[in-house]
Amino acid sequence: MILTTTSPSPYSLPAGLPEALDRLARTPRLLVAIDFDGTLAPFTDDPLRSRALPDSHLALIALWKIPATKIAVVSGRALDSLRIVADPPKGTILVGSHGVEMQMVVGEDPDLQLTTQEITDVSDLNELLDEVAEDHNEVWVEHKPAGAVLHTRGADSAEAQEAEHEALADTEDEFSSLLVRPGKDVLEFSVREANKGEALRELRRRTHATGVFYAGDDLTDEDAFAVLRSGDVGVHAGYSGRTRAPFQVPGPAQITVVLQYLASVRAAVSRQTATMA
Ligand SMILES: [Mg+2]
Repeated sequence: MILTTTSPSPYSLPAGLPEALDRLARTPRLLVAIDFDGTLAPFTDDPLRSRALPDSHLALIALWKIPATKIAVVSGRALDSLRIVADPPKGTILVGSHGVEMQMVVGEDPDLQLTTQEITDVSDLNELLDEVAEDHNEVWVEHKPAGAVLHTRGADSAEAQEAEHEALADTEDEFSSLLVRPGKDVLEFSVREANKGEALRELRRRTHATGVFYAGDDLTDEDAFAVLRSGDVGVHAGYSGRTRAPFQVPGPAQITVVLQYLASVRAAVSRQTATMA
């Protein structure tokens, strides 16, 4: 009898990525910025039940412990929701609503001040989208501080398309300026313009980072990939074929391997520096 084992072979990082991470790990002040849903956490039907893959979470904690290394979770989620699901170590920077809400220190109030007009618009927008969602099966609305998101993940594609068309037509009639952002099974409306690219620029400035790692899976992460500079490393989670990220991996499970690799080389560099000092 011949016995064969089918244990999976360990994932090897795409060509060039280990070398790029080796170089980045030597930067004096490293910023590790990462998207949550679809990158740290696999997608779930109930957004509040999403959690980062345990080993990715551990790798982030390992990075967070290394001197001169800052961690930021950069998400389209509202900050309140991100705080619950990300469960970050103290000192992690949280960026919610694609940069509208930025919390540099845990416990500190995020920077978000809306004008009276914006507050009225958000309330009208939510009311309007709730009406659209009511007319469609498995379509629901996520309420956010500066906007709202129409979720269609559970709906069949005809129903989803109809709901999105309706939401677009109704909001166009109602609001003069509204930022519309399509994503995976979501259509997001915001009264405040912000994107992950601007957020990442701001994070680089505020953390004085000399090198940046960024990973994300969605269209909105492309803005962040676009502001990466020479020496930074961008990794797209998922093979979209349309990303600006220089490297692609299949999804969250492989992002774990990337983070573990970065944590181990950064820790080694940090130990070396400490010995030499
Ligand atoms: Mg994502």
